[in-house]
Amino acid sequence: MDEPKLLGYVSKECNNCGRVRVEEYSDGSLICEKCYWDQIDNYKFPYDYL
Ligand SMILES: [Zn+2]
Repeated sequence: MDEPKLLGYVSKECNNCGRVRVEEYSDGSLICEKCYWDQIDNYKFPYDYL
């Protein structure tokens, strides 16, 4: 399967840790760089394949 590409930071606080380190991916995911929280689905992202 295709891996999503990292598009860059968005100006948004992480729902989980509150840091502005949320990264947008080409599949529409918004994942926190620090705690790997998925901002849309609200779960800890399985980051192994990125
Ligand atoms: Zn976070």
